[in-house]
Amino acid sequence: MRRPTALSISGIASYNEKVMGNASVAALGQKGEGLEQYRGEETERMRMGLDELYHRVKDCAMCPLHLRRTQVVLGEGNPHSPLMIVGEGPGADEDRMGRPFVGKAGQLLNKMLAAAEIPREQIYITNIVKCRPPGNRTPTEEEMNTCISILRRQFLVIRPKIIVTLGSAPTRALIDPQAKITRVRGQWVEKKGVRFMPTFHPAYLLRNPEAKREAWADFQQIRDAYKHVLAQADHTAGHID
Ligand code: SF4
Repeated sequence: MRRPTALSISGIASYNEKVMGNASVAALGQKGEGLEQYRGEETERMRMGLDELYHRVKDCAMCPLHLRRTQVVLGEGNPHSPLMIVGEGPGADEDRMGRPFVGKAGQLLNKMLAAAEIPREQIYITNIVKCRPPGNRTPTEEEMNTCISILRRQFLVIRPKIIVTLGSAPTRALIDPQAKITRVRGQWVEKKGVRFMPTFHPAYLLRNPEAKREAWADFQQIRDAYKHVLAQADHTAGHID
């Protein structure tokens, strides 16, 4: 039995294997015969799922946010990840670069992930709306309700076990329409086998640095839950070997 002591690549690999399904792995034959090829094909299939989704939505005009965007920012990261982070919407840097969380708030998110020993490239990061709200305003309920169909498709491809909502907008859209982030942050909510953790948006932390202590407590919980999912997958993989 192998147990990771940190958020290891082996943990991620085992998680990926588990996501693919033990029955599928067993069906491959002796001791993972063809497993590497299968892993590669599965990753390719998931990437194609997200690539195909991007091509379907890159010209989306379902809500008024399409009028002033530069480009749709679908999300980025590991399509096998058990952990998905959902922010509010792209800002100016994200709109320009086509990637989520690359501005100042993104840099703070990177620091928090690094402090929690969660490599950014191992997880998947996206937003509740995929086009920049003008002036970085909060997306309206209608915009979120329209765009959520794209996020649902991402859930179907990635099938995360843990979803972190950053700030009020994704927390209200995914957990509770009445939620106030200051009241609900740091508390796990489980829905259909997926654990949700609401916490502050890094942009809020830049404006209110005194809240970083609470956000760090939330990230420690997220780290522990993420480690637990990886360790479970590693345990299962140990029984397959
Ligand atoms: S925010 Fe979402 S629903 Fe609105 S135009 Fe962009 S991709 Fe389409």
